[in-house]
Formats: sequence, C-alpha cells, structure tokens
Amino acid sequence: MIDLTGRVALVTGASRGIGRAIARQLAECGAAVAVNYVTNAAAAEAVVAEIIAGGRQGLAVQADVRDREAVKAMVARTVEVFGRLDILVNNAGVLADQYLAFMSDEQFDTVLDICLKGAFNCCRAAVRPMMKGRWGRIVNVSSDAGLMGDLRRANYAAAKAGLLGLTKSLARELAGQGILVNAVAPGIIATDMTADMDDKRRATMLGLIPLQRFGQPEEVAAVVAFLCSDAAAYITGQVVGIDGGLRM
Ligand code: NAP
Repeated sequence: MIDLTGRVALVTGASRGIGRAIARQLAECGAAVAVNYVTNAAAAEAVVAEIIAGGRQGLAVQADVRDREAVKAMVARTVEVFGRLDILVNNAGVLADQYLAFMSDEQFDTVLDICLKGAFNCCRAAVRPMMKGRWGRIVNVSSDAGLMGDLRRANYAAAKAGLLGLTKSLARELAGQGILVNAVAPGIIATDMTADMDDKRRATMLGLIPLQRFGQPEEVAAVVAFLCSDAAAYITGQVVGIDGGLRM
C-alpha cells in the first residue's frame, strides 16, 4: 500500500486522460491534490468533486503551463490552500503532428512550449516550497517518442527527449535537498490524445506491442504513485517505461 497521507500534490493537465488518473490515484493514496487544467474547468471540477467524495482534499487550479506568472500563481494558491507542496507531476501535453517539411513554426513552438518549457516553469515554481520541507517528488510524463522518435512528431519527440534531460539534470541538482526527480515514458495509452488513431496505425502499433493492447491511464498512474512514495526513496533520475514492452 502506498501511503501519501499528509502530502500535497500538484498535477498538471489533470482534467482528462492520464493526468486525471494520476490525480485520482494520488488522492486515493491520501494526498491532497491540486488539479490543473487550461480550458476545461468543468472537467477539472468533476475530478475535484470525485476526490472530495472519496474523503480527500482537492482543488481545481487554472493555468496555462506556458505562462510563467500563471504557474507561479497556481503554485502559490496550492500552498495557500493546503499549506505546502510536496509532489509535482508534469503531465500537461499536446500533439501537433506534421511531416517536417510542412511543420509550421507555430506547431513546433506550441509543442515545445507546453511539453518542455511548461514543465520547466512548473519545476522552477514548485521547487522552493519543496525545499522548505526538505522532501519532494517531481515526476515528468515523457513518452516513448522521446526515446525512439516518431513519424510526424519531430516537435513532440524533441520536447519529450528534452524532458528527460531536464529530469536528469534536476535529479542531480536537487538530490541534496531530498527532492527526487524521475520520468515515466508511456507508450500508447487510451485517452483523447490517441482516440482518433486510424485503424491501420492502430493495427500496426498493436503488432509492435508484446502485450498486444494499449495501456490504460490508471496503469501510468500506479507507477507515478509509486515514484511519489517513500518506497521509491532510492530512485532518482530514472525513466520508467509503461508501454506493454513496445520499447525494450
Ligand atoms: P489528453 O487526454 O489530451 O489531456 C491533456 C491534458 O493536458 C488536459 O488536461 C489539458 O487540459 C492539459 N493541457 C493541455 N495544454 C495545456 C496547457 N497549456 N497548460 C495546462 N494544461 C494543458 O492527454 P493524455 O493522453 O492524457 O496525455 C497526458 C500526458 O501524457 C501528455 O504529456 C502526453 O504527451 C503524455 N503521453 C500520452 C500518451 C498517450 O498515448 N495518451 C503516450 C505517451 C505520453 P484541458 O482539459 O483544460 O484542455
């Protein structure tokens, strides 16, 4: 059993998909959870309502992770309401797929700004309250694409690979402060992000996955909760694949 009683977590992009599953899981383990979203207030409030119905504390916090000031305000609000911040999960992410020759500056910049700069903004804002408690956990949601590359995803793969560099650098920098920094690299997980995959690609990808199915958000959340727990006290700077064996 993972016990996060007394811990306070902030999960970015927690209104839907993997982030929602992580927020629910951390709350189930006992943490108070700040549920970040960018546009989908109703979905974030629904996640908070579920957390509260389960007997834990939850708070919806709007911020575009690209916006440094909004991120600072989100962290300040979390600390104001819950008194501390121990766990940050950088999960917010988007796709803007295109072949290199046709990829616009905007498609490249948007994905880098949300997936990589957004995580940097959140780490920078969250690290001070974590240092105060001399205990912290940061989990960055990268992707198999960051390790293997992916067709039409030069932007996304670069951002997710960059996230691994960020993870390892912060793991070294923050180890002395009791803050552990790790990444997870999901393969294909059934969420809105993968819902519109065409049948041909679906069949091709299933053929490459030894477990012959796509993952569920809860299967990512379980690993994140473990990395946030005291059971993972000797793990930092690592990348944990959650991909049914796609990459090995
Ligand atoms: P999703 O269902 O599309 O949900 C995306 C979440 O990110 C939403 O909560 C959205 O908020 C939020 N978001 C988007 N832009 C944001 C911004 N600028 N600031 C703050 N929040 C923002 O995605 P998902 O499939 O759960 O993916 C979650 C993470 O896992 C992403 O980093 C993704 O790259 C990674 N991942 C996913 C897969 C997969 O197969 N699904 C595989 C590997 C890695 P709103 O609801 O307010 O729009």
